[in-house]
Amino acid sequence: MSMSMMEDKQENRPVFEPHVSTVYGPVASWRFGQSLGIDLIRDVSTCSFNCIYCQLGDIQDKTMERRYFVSTEEVMADLERSNWQQADIITFSGSGEPTLALNCGEAIRKIKAFTQKPVMVLTNGTLLHQPEVQDDLMAADQVSIKLDAATETGLKQMNRPVAGVTLEKIVQGAIAFKSRYSGKVSIQTMFMPTNLKEVDALAELIRRIGPDEVQLNTPKRPYPLEWNVDSRGNHTGQADYPTVALRTVDPETADTIEGLLERKTGVPILSIYRKG
Ligand code: SF4
Repeated sequence: MSMSMMEDKQENRPVFEPHVSTVYGPVASWRFGQSLGIDLIRDVSTCSFNCIYCQLGDIQDKTMERRYFVSTEEVMADLERSNWQQADIITFSGSGEPTLALNCGEAIRKIKAFTQKPVMVLTNGTLLHQPEVQDDLMAADQVSIKLDAATETGLKQMNRPVAGVTLEKIVQGAIAFKSRYSGKVSIQTMFMPTNLKEVDALAELIRRIGPDEVQLNTPKRPYPLEWNVDSRGNHTGQADYPTVALRTVDPETADTIEGLLERKTGVPILSIYRKG
């Protein structure tokens, strides 16, 4: 639990003291320049995955249930107080899976109208098969879908999803969304020694989805031993809370994977090691 979090004894829910903003950054992103983060969840880390490399640490609320976490009014008030003018892009990410927030679509539309800046959503794709989630994402300029594993076993090992989530459902959701969406669709893949053996199968899934690009990443942030709201940001090993280092893929291996995926899929591959 974050040092800044106390418990409301009457309602038994966390209360932040002082106020923790739903807007953070801008932080430098290797892919997008200065990125302003929007956190529609904030109070308790909440996700349908519990990835072994998650910068939030062990997810506190593992769920597929969509609900309201923070009101859009509160997010807009936080946005107005932030340095949003300095951002190149607004990114929905934060303390878990953004599409779990029922006001995700409303927040995207309002923030885009207010800032006139491109909006991107980072999603794990587990809810993309739901037409109402697809509707919510329509106003975004870019949707980046996580796809680390290429087999059901790999998904369980790396992403540790809640019951009922399958890789095939995620892929079919991504295909259905892509067929309706006119913005840019990217696939973000985290490479660790665990999923190196799945490169060929991954290429096949990428071909099926047909994204505009693939972003190849490897863990650059240590794994926090407990959740801290500060881990939403861009720490690179200098975090002032307990963490453990993760095994990464070296630049030569990343280079080989990049070439292989590019040849097999024909899709442009961006690698964190080639960020320039
Ligand atoms: S999908 Fe994202 S927020 Fe959810 S557990 Fe994985 S890395 Fe963490």
